[in-house]
Amino acid sequence: MTTAEELAQLSRELGREDRHLAILGEGNTAADLGDGTFLVKASGTSLGTMTPDGLSRVSHAKVDELLDRPNVTEQEIEDGLVACLADPTHKKPSVETFLHSLCLREPGVKWTGHTHTTSVLAILASKQGAEPFLRHVCPDAIVVCGRHVLPVPYINPGLDLALAVREGLAKFRAEHGKPPKVILMKNHGPVALGSSSKEVLNIMLMLDKWARVLLGAFAAGGPNFLPEEDAAKIDNRLDEAYRRKMIEAKA
Ligand SMILES: [Zn+2]
Repeated sequence: MTTAEELAQLSRELGREDRHLAILGEGNTAADLGDGTFLVKASGTSLGTMTPDGLSRVSHAKVDELLDRPNVTEQEIEDGLVACLADPTHKKPSVETFLHSLCLREPGVKWTGHTHTTSVLAILASKQGAEPFLRHVCPDAIVVCGRHVLPVPYINPGLDLALAVREGLAKFRAEHGKPPKVILMKNHGPVALGSSSKEVLNIMLMLDKWARVLLGAFAAGGPNFLPEEDAAKIDNRLDEAYRRKMIEAKA
């Protein structure tokens, strides 16, 4: 399977109606091609019916040019999206192209998915925002979604949101020594960062479950969060297993 075919498949999985992760044109996906370019969902396409010709190939370097330019106007962003194309025959890429480009350049990240998951959004759009996701309620979410998530305040989709995510990713890595698996954008939705398309799907499905468990727990008197030391222990064990695998792979 080509990367384009695999990305189209991931998109359709995330766009499945019965999963309530995204409807209509909501959400977007991207995959790094390892040559300074990446594939991203084209503007105006739908995840649920995605095919390889609904994907646009974009240059990371051209995205950086736009991100580093001060005081960019709405029109310059519109034109900039087209100017970022590595293949000029492709459609205009999604307005979230900048965000995906930044995430794909984090260490170990090759695939990204962004959705407007109903359960997750129910919490992110509440008075509590991303707060309930800063602690854990079950071990599986730590294993799949990571011990720490990156919360981002509400900012209209586009260049400004990407700049806030860039700052958040740098801070997160300085603090935790690795990129997050989950970014939670308040009043907007989650982004999953993975090393494979399967990991992105798994993160999104587990995050949805986590959010539904939280909503149920709030309805049943409030969540009973796991003690910090237990959550840290599971996370450390994963780090340990990962390091061992890396050492074995090198040997
Ligand atoms: Zn969105």
